[in-house]
Amino acid sequence: MKTLLDDLSAVLGAGLLLDEDQRVERARDTWSRSQIAITAGEPEVAPMAVCAPVNAAEMAEVVSICRAHKVPMIPRGGGSGVCGGVLASTDAVVLSTEHMTGLVSLSTDDLLATFGGGTNGFVAETMMAESGLTIGHWPQSIELSTVGGWVATRASGQYSTAYGNIEDMVYSLEAVLADGSVYHSRDTPRASAGPDLRQLLMGSEGTLGVVTEVTLSVREQPEPGVRQAFHFADFAAGLDAIRAVMRQGWRPPVARLYDGRESWRHFRDHMPKGNCMLIFLHEGPPGLAALQAAATEGLCGARGGVAAESEAVDTWFEHRNAVPTWDELLKQGIVSDTIEVAAPWSVLPRLYDDVVAALKAVPGVVAASGHSSHAYRSGANLYFTVAAIPEDLQRYGATYDTFWNVAMKATAALGVGVAHHHGIGRVRRDWMPSELGEAGVGMLRSVKRALDPEGLMNPGVLIP
Ligand SMILES: Cc1cc2nc3c(=O)[nH]c(=O)nc-3n(C[C@H](O)[C@H](O)[C@H](O)COP(=O)(O)OP(=O)(O)OC[C@H]3O[C@@H](n4cnc5c(N)ncnc54)[C@H](O)[C@@H]3O)c2cc1C
Repeated sequence: MKTLLDDLSAVLGAGLLLDEDQRVERARDTWSRSQIAITAGEPEVAPMAVCAPVNAAEMAEVVSICRAHKVPMIPRGGGSGVCGGVLASTDAVVLSTEHMTGLVSLSTDDLLATFGGGTNGFVAETMMAESGLTIGHWPQSIELSTVGGWVATRASGQYSTAYGNIEDMVYSLEAVLADGSVYHSRDTPRASAGPDLRQLLMGSEGTLGVVTEVTLSVREQPEPGVRQAFHFADFAAGLDAIRAVMRQGWRPPVARLYDGRESWRHFRDHMPKGNCMLIFLHEGPPGLAALQAAATEGLCGARGGVAAESEAVDTWFEHRNAVPTWDELLKQGIVSDTIEVAAPWSVLPRLYDDVVAALKAVPGVVAASGHSSHAYRSGANLYFTVAAIPEDLQRYGATYDTFWNVAMKATAALGVGVAHHHGIGRVRRDWMPSELGEAGVGMLRSVKRALDPEGLMNPGVLIP
């Protein structure tokens, strides 16, 4: 009798990776909790196989074979996810997009670029730059993540305040659905043709299918921008300044406000201790940046903002993607994570206070701080960083679970968004009813059941 691996090998040839190291390397993402488990002595897991098809047709065959054998499938891009969206068991296969890479087509007339779903983000952006274009999507993980992963997690880049999040950039996409069919969305700049089915895939975190190709609406590279910085006596005053900028209709690509603790960490040479630094980058068509910077200066000054040297922003640009790995922190006995949420302007100051207070009350927590990095007309995100030094290794996992739980509880209590851009994965799955409501979770479950009645596509993720 032919086995699963015989069937997969017949389709994939060298695209079937069976070496143990290759399987272990692709078994998980960058979830801090997975790293804690390994530090605490749990063995690394190797899935049965890694399937790396070269196109949607091959991916569809692989999905059909796995369905026939009733084998769980775990889609994986760059593995930079931080919520446990990739965590393969020994009886599962990983569906890797690593061989579906590169620029498939570029129309400079239409500003449309189609990439293989597994294309590395920085490679994609660099290819656009060669044509004088930019995607304008700069997640901190741009060098670690893939275009398909951005779509699957509804990612946000550092320039989102002007250029939008990934859902604002996706023009069309191709996906192999969990039932093995291949979905192509219509190529059109806008449609009034029923619900936008692309949105079902955006944020689906591998539970409904694999995104195999993505067409992004790209843009011309702007002129070099204007960098600006102001510091405020408190966080709420800085939030109010961003709100004022957004209300007037200005759209700085970067508008980031750090609380006192984080400001001192990043900008101590540019402001007094305790103040909160707000940095801006303005860019756009000729003339816009200077105009926007002048308006921003007035709005910040009217709210107590004190101008700082623009070198403060240069410092941020130089270090913006440098972060320690979980492993480096765990070796020093530090259990840490970042937690991003979102709320309307009127709730943000309270949300900041409540979440920081809840985090600081957790035994072992030594630091809890936050910043805001993605602004909208009606609200913004908050991005918390928490670090704990538990008494001993046995308490690492429980401490991690507790600080996540209190942050989610404080956010849900205010009825605002529990996940701004990292997604849900496993870490936030049980907070989905707070986010979608019971009816919303029911609708998601119905869609999942229709496409994947046996629950084989990324089980355990997203859907409670
Ligand atoms: C240092 C660091 C900084 C980060 N900064 C940001 C940031 O600024 N903004 C931000 O939004 N995120 C950020 N992240 C989180 C992460 O990079 C994003 O979620 C990213 O979009 C994940 O892409 P990936 O290709 O690595 O996906 P993976 O980690 O491989 O997978 C993530 C999830 O998506 C699914 N998936 C992946 N590819 C596909 C596909 N082609 N089709 C269907 N499902 C798929 C997986 O099953 C999983 O559920 C950061 C992470 C790190 C480690």
